[in-house]
Amino acid sequence: GEPQANDVPLSPLSFLLRMAEIKGDDEALVTDSGRVLTWADLLDRAERLAGALRAAGVRDGERVAVLAPNDAPLLEAHYGVPGAGAVLVALNTRLSLAEYADLLRRSDVRVLIVDEALADRVEPVIAGIDGLRCVVTVADRPDGYEAWLAAAQAVPLRLPDDERAPLAINFTSGTTAGPKGAVYTHRGCYLNAMSQVVAMNLRADSTYLWTLPMFHCSGWCFTWAVTAVGARHVALRKVDPDRVLDLIGRYDVTHLCGAPVVLNGLVEASRRRTAELGAEVTFAVGGAPPTPAAIAEMREIGVEIVHLYGMTETYGPSLVCELRPEWAELDASALARKVSRQGVRTLSVESARVVTGDLRDVPADGETPGELAIRSNTVISHYLDDLEATARAFAGGWLHTGDAAVRHPDGYIEIRDRIKDVIISGGENISSIEVENALADHPAVRESAVVARAHPKWGEVPVAHVALRDGAVVSDHELIDWLRDRIAHFKVPAAIVFGELPKTATGKIQKSELRAIDTRPSI
Ligand code: ADP
Repeated sequence: GEPQANDVPLSPLSFLLRMAEIKGDDEALVTDSGRVLTWADLLDRAERLAGALRAAGVRDGERVAVLAPNDAPLLEAHYGVPGAGAVLVALNTRLSLAEYADLLRRSDVRVLIVDEALADRVEPVIAGIDGLRCVVTVADRPDGYEAWLAAAQAVPLRLPDDERAPLAINFTSGTTAGPKGAVYTHRGCYLNAMSQVVAMNLRADSTYLWTLPMFHCSGWCFTWAVTAVGARHVALRKVDPDRVLDLIGRYDVTHLCGAPVVLNGLVEASRRRTAELGAEVTFAVGGAPPTPAAIAEMREIGVEIVHLYGMTETYGPSLVCELRPEWAELDASALARKVSRQGVRTLSVESARVVTGDLRDVPADGETPGELAIRSNTVISHYLDDLEATARAFAGGWLHTGDAAVRHPDGYIEIRDRIKDVIISGGENISSIEVENALADHPAVRESAVVARAHPKWGEVPVAHVALRDGAVVSDHELIDWLRDRIAHFKVPAAIVFGELPKTATGKIQKSELRAIDTRPSI
């Protein structure tokens, strides 16, 4: 229709257009190899990408997949792909051949851009994908991505006519079920990006280090949020805690994000180096529950912790543990316990409730469990080609998160478990997170996961899988005694199993695998 003076479809592509217009010569991105791109460069590359995709025959609404680590091609795809009118499918970098075949088919991909280092992960299935017209490998060779961009005709990024048009499809990591395609709209991405700017306190002079995979919930929308304020992106292909500490120093990084596993890695590395971080650094942790112990340790070396909760279905973060002025008086461990709660709704979220099965609010007593339910403009409208899963997730007009939570008297929400992970022993619920937090307070413990084991008398009993810090020694009896002093005895694990914990590509502990390997009857 007619363009309106006061009604323009929301799209995060406008953030890049604005930055190129107002600060075209400023640094936008430092690539993993140290190359610097300005906002004008980034826009030019995104426009060339859009042109190359159109030339390859990509039409409106068709899908373009990228399988790549955090570097320029994946960041610019967040602008160039939707700017060509297409829909971005950023693939998890750690899937199996069969999973790639399944996701490429289900999302009906036309063009696949794949990093050379990951090419052999998909090559064997490519020939069998109907409709896949073009594969471009990010490699330094005549038929590689750079040559493809250089030869392309730049076309202006196209803003959508309808802000509810799909921008991206992000597959859930499938921690609890097979991956489902979550459809993100331009409007939702725009709104959640704004919300992240506020939650993280990003400023024009901030530098954001990419320790969070961009393929995870569009990098929690930081792919657009960092651009929205004109902060600088620093790409990082692989998270190595020592390199992260070096980059923080080299580029004066002010902000980074990651799962608790990344936080734990930084805690260990900074302990080893007793390095001063110098600059003001804010680390947003989320994706799985961070322990109060890790939060306290990072705060001790001067890192500001922002705790975020979210899921693929909510475009990433939707709760944030907002700091309150009265917490300033708390000691370090009491403060860390407050911050380990998931908190309150973010700017873009309309309502976050803890409800019973019939959608009534549980009392704010910090004890009565319910399910976290969310209503927001930053909740996906549907799953790709799955009406049934969509109807189930949104029954009654709320997104049912599948997370068991309590609400505290101060209104803050605390996640106790995924509903599927709750351990029920002798009729009592045991929060695995509570037991894991108590274990994390032990100096020898790096990380742990507490899962249910079937028991003839109690129904289930908890079993703790524990990974120790480098060089630490502790026996199962010592850990059990430690827990007996700290938590109710029925919550103390029946057994401790030492070893590394299996993780997903987004750094989440795979409890389903731990349950599967631990089927022995307990004593
Ligand atoms: P998957 O469910 O397959 O892991 P998601 O990435 O969408 O895929 O994960 C969302 C889930 O991660 C949430 O439902 C919740 O169980 C967990 N989660 C995310 N952030 C937090 C957090 N800050 N604290 C506790 N759990 C979290």
